[in-house]
Formats: sequence, structure tokens, C-alpha cells
Amino acid sequence: MTELTDLTISESLAKLKTKEISPVELTQAYIKKMGENDKYNAYVTQTAEQALERAKKSEKRYADGTNRPLEGIALGIKDLFCTKDVRTTACSHIINNFVPPYESTVTQNLLDDGALFLGKLNLDEFAMGGSNETSCFGPVVNPWSKATKLVAGGSSGGSAAAVAAKMCAAATGTDTGGSIRQPAAFCGVTGIKPTYGRCSRYGIVAFASSLDQAGPICKDVTDCALLLNCMAGYDAKDSTSSKVAVPDFTSFIGQDIKGLKIGIPEEYRPDGLNPEVAAYWDKAAEILKAQGAEIVHISLPHTKYALPTYYVIAPAEASSNLARYDGVRYGNRVDGNGLDALYVNTRTAGFGKEVKRRILIGTYVLSAGYYDAYYLKAQKVRRLIKNDFDEAFKKCDVILTPTSPIEPFAIGDKKMLENPINMYLNDVFTVSVNLAGLPALSLPIGLSANGLPFGMQLIGKAFDEATIFKTAYQLERGAKFVRM
Ligand code: GLN
Repeated sequence: MTELTDLTISESLAKLKTKEISPVELTQAYIKKMGENDKYNAYVTQTAEQALERAKKSEKRYADGTNRPLEGIALGIKDLFCTKDVRTTACSHIINNFVPPYESTVTQNLLDDGALFLGKLNLDEFAMGGSNETSCFGPVVNPWSKATKLVAGGSSGGSAAAVAAKMCAAATGTDTGGSIRQPAAFCGVTGIKPTYGRCSRYGIVAFASSLDQAGPICKDVTDCALLLNCMAGYDAKDSTSSKVAVPDFTSFIGQDIKGLKIGIPEEYRPDGLNPEVAAYWDKAAEILKAQGAEIVHISLPHTKYALPTYYVIAPAEASSNLARYDGVRYGNRVDGNGLDALYVNTRTAGFGKEVKRRILIGTYVLSAGYYDAYYLKAQKVRRLIKNDFDEAFKKCDVILTPTSPIEPFAIGDKKMLENPINMYLNDVFTVSVNLAGLPALSLPIGLSANGLPFGMQLIGKAFDEATIFKTAYQLERGAKFVRM
């Protein structure tokens, strides 16, 4: 029997509108699931009472016909989005008592459209990581885990796990180098990182400002379109948010893809590529071809420089953004004898190992003498990576690649934890997109021999999420992936 929490947002809205189900009933079903699935450690703060209060108000709105686009839909919010009067931690010891007096623009947009929030979701500390193991609240457990506890991916691990385990109808995420797409792939759900500037960054704790972008993680492609409609839009409070008009993304769902050119980048298929990943990639191309799309082979020649470029630029920006947590202006304070000692004690106690590593790398590549050799060079290569995409998009409309080169691995995997480079290598298919500011979606394509989900990525031209949605919906229909 299907449970209420199995419904997608679009299915729920249809039943809410006909009053077959009520917002309170639906919200209670999600709250029950949150209790049952506590073992996954997806939520770091729960706001069930507040959610039920809002659900009651939504009930009135359905009764008097003033219901808004997401009326009564229960969401989880990555704990990187500031939520007014609700603790926001970035999963770091350094701000684990921060209660924002304001709401981020993206979450405000969702509230204005009638959504309600069940709580704040776990993530890698300051969104730095690919396995959700750097959180000060401990790792998120992938709901697909069998005997061994597996990572949910990161940094939006809590968001992806909560959606997979039906602990919310959908969740917000952020993506600096893959943090929406990779955990979505690991947990068998769908997520889109929109074009840089589509969603306001106002009120989102900053990691790397030129790369960070908010987006939804959902049960399916249609829900992603529905949610992005509400999240996106120009915001005067973020000077990098775009004035490009936001189309109704749901209008592209169901459109056919006849004649659409799908680009397959040769550089994304190195010799050692996991054969299961390669096979699913071929299968995805076949599905799209069967629906009338044309497969074209493209080249993104600077792909091999994407990871080193990202791991210079992202830490550089992070070291600058995180300078504010000094125990004076922001963050928890650990006193010391004099100002220097106060800084050292505060930051030593407040930041975890990975965050410290990024600050060290970032300050190094920005320092006099090294700035030209690392940071400036990385910025130049970033442009070349963007140019590769511009060239490729002369030949195709959308690009198809795997999301991750591997399947979810065990929590505490020594190979990943002892050598951070191994962890960084998992971002090989996702970081280029952020460096170029492009939109990209990940959707589940099938299961590995171990019964774990694999994701496929569709990359679009800037501000052309429309083509991604159109293609993703057809791929979803063809893949027939069975949700958890
Ligand atoms: N795994 C990448 C990193 O650690 C991406 C993180 C993100 O997108 N926030 O930087």
C-alpha cells in the first residue's frame, strides 16, 4: 500500500486540492517518518510543532481557496540556510548556537508560496566535503545501506537521505562543486544545481561565493521543476542574482526531445572508468536516442584541470569567507591571553580538520608570491574550462555524463579519510559545471550489482534549465528507476 509519504509533491498537491488529503494529515505522516528514520541522522534540528501550526493555516487556505503553489508541502532545509528564529549551524562547532534574526531569500520564497519546514538537515561542515562525514553532528547514514553503514554523499547528505527515506517531501540543498548532485546520486533521488545567479545566495552561509548555488533535491524531476519555480528569481539583496526571467519550469515536463542533440564528452570516459558506470551511461544515451534525440560526441579538453582548479579557487574563497568567524564578530569564542590567543583558541576549537585544511590551502594560494602561481593561474584555467563548454554547446543542446565515478562507500572508509585527494577525486564529474556557472541535474538511472543507486548528470547552457528538465523527464520515464 502506498503511504502518504510516498507521494511526490505534484501528486500531493492534486490530492490536497480535491481535499482527498489534508495538509495536517500529510505533515503528520512526514513527522512520523522522521521519528522512525532518526537512525539516519539526517536532521540536526526538528521543528515539528512549527510545521503543524503552518499546516493548520494551510488547511484554512485550501478551505477558502487562497492556497498558494506549495501550500502545505513539508520540506527539509539544509542547515546552511538561515531560518529566522530557528538555529542555523552549518554543522560547525564554531556557530552551533547561532539563531538568525532573518530568513534566507530562498527559504522565504518557499514560505511565501505556502511550504512549511520540518527542520534543518545535516551537511558537511560549511558544505566542505563529499560524504557528510565532516559534520560536527556526525555522518548521515545512506538509507540504501545494507549490512555496512554507507555515506549519503555530501555535502547535502542530510537533504538527499531525508528525501530518499521520505522524511520530507523535498529538501533544499546547495552546490559549490557537486553537493546537490552527488548526494542525490548516492541516495537515488533527483537534484538540480541551477545556473549561477538563478537563486539568491542571501542568507546562505557562504563557502565559495563565486561557485555556491542553491537548488532543490526531490523525489522526481517534476518536483524539482515545481520547487525551482518557487526558489528562483532576482533578489536585490544578492548582487550576483540574475534578472533573467524565470520561466515556468513545469511547462517543459513532458515535452518531446525529438532532434535534440545530446553531447557525450570523451574526456569523461577515462580508461579506468567503473564498468557499471560506463554501462549505465550507454544505457542513458540509448534511452534518449530511442526517444528521437541525437547523440553527438564532444570534447571538453580542459577537463583534467577542473579538479586542481576547483581545489585552488574554492579554498581561496572559503578562507576569505571564513575569516569572519573570529570569536569577536561572529561565532563561539574561546578566550585567551590577548587578541592573537583568542583568535587561535577560537578557531582551533571551532573548526574541524577539513575546514582548517581548506583555510590553510586558501590563505597559501592567496598569499604574496604564490598568488600569481596558483590563484591567478586557476582563474585563467577556469575561463578555459568555460570556453570548452561554449564550444561544445555549438554542437549540442545538453550534455550527458555520470554524476559520480563511484557508488556510495562505507562510513569511515580509510582510503577516503586518510588521503583527502581520494575524496576530492569523487568530484571529477561535477566541479567543472560550477567553475563554468552552468545548470546541471542528477537523476537516478539504476542500481549497481550491490543494489546501490547510480546517478546520471545532464548539463545545460547557462539559464537553459528548460532543456535539462525536458530531457531529464524523458530519461526518468525511460529509466523506470524504482524509488526506495
Ligand atoms: N565535494 C566538494 C567539496 O568538498 C563539493 C562541496 C560542495 O559542493 N559544497 O568542495
